[in-house]
Amino acid sequence: MTVALSRYTTLGTGGPARELAQPTTVAEVEALLRRREPVAVVGLGSNLLVADDGVDRIVLHLEGELSQIELDGTTVRAGGGAANAVVLHRVRTAGLGGFEFACAIPGTIGGGVWMNGGAYGGEFSRVLQRVRVVSAAGGGWFTPAELGLSYRHSDLRHGQVVVEAELRLEPRDPAEIKATVRELNAQRKAAQPTNRRTFGSVFKNPEHELSAGRMLEACGLKGHRIGGAQISPKHANFIENAGGARTADALALMAEARRRAFEQYGVELRHEVELLGGIELPPLR
Ligand SMILES: Cc1cc2nc3c(=O)[nH]c(=O)nc-3n(C[C@H](O)[C@H](O)[C@H](O)COP(=O)(O)OP(=O)(O)OC[C@H]3O[C@@H](n4cnc5c(N)ncnc54)[C@H](O)[C@@H]3O)c2cc1C
Repeated sequence: MTVALSRYTTLGTGGPARELAQPTTVAEVEALLRRREPVAVVGLGSNLLVADDGVDRIVLHLEGELSQIELDGTTVRAGGGAANAVVLHRVRTAGLGGFEFACAIPGTIGGGVWMNGGAYGGEFSRVLQRVRVVSAAGGGWFTPAELGLSYRHSDLRHGQVVVEAELRLEPRDPAEIKATVRELNAQRKAAQPTNRRTFGSVFKNPEHELSAGRMLEACGLKGHRIGGAQISPKHANFIENAGGARTADALALMAEARRRAFEQYGVELRHEVELLGGIELPPLR
């Protein structure tokens, strides 16, 4: 099936996959992996830049059983394709707290594990008990430490599919959870372009007194536009689809932002967004 992956990314860019597969069970994922062809998973595409000319891989979108959620006391079992928002809704209703931070992360459980997503002092590694990964070489259950989870990083590679995760939460009054989520969403709305198509933070925060956003703002990049992509006038560490953007436009903006941060601050910004389909940023030197 040659469907443009722009339908599966929050920025709304990206060409077709070699093949788009929608497995609904672990057995179906295993069967796809047995073909020994290169694969990648797309979750909510909220941290993803896909090449305009497409991806020469089988791209998996996890559905059915692989996006379901079960609660057992304070343990939550969620499929790799379960959306954070749906998990949060379920655990809030059940009076389980600790996942509130994820209200700001519009992805799936698999995507959250992949990059140890986090916000407002919380992150996946703190609530994950263990993660089930399937790959052509086998698979099994892994702890966050075994997956190398650290700041916006795991050791996972394409070909390793997060099919399920177990989260350990704590009892908390649903009304308190609701109030926390409301407060975090308000903070987010005040600071970030929540009503635009973006892929979240472009760069990881560098080891510097300035965050990536403040640094790019100081470089005069707010509102800078290339083609259909624009550095957000609200927060300089976001790129918006300002109309008809292509991935090439976003990449050109990222290259320009890195060049300016390096010239002005001597800092080599590292991208937080995942690049898929043989695309990369030009070297700084
Ligand atoms: C408005 C906005 C705000 C955001 N704010 C935050 C924030 O505060 N904190 C934060 O950490 N992130 C934030 N993000 C980024 C993004 O939401 C997170 O990185 C999220 O965890 C990505 O999940 P996803 O399902 O969308 O993954 P995708 O973007 O689809 O994929 C990202 C990577 O994960 C891999 N992947 C996805 N699912 C699986 C799986 N099941 N198995 C193996 N690999 C998989 C993909 O192959 C890819 O390499 C934000 C994004 C947006 C658009």
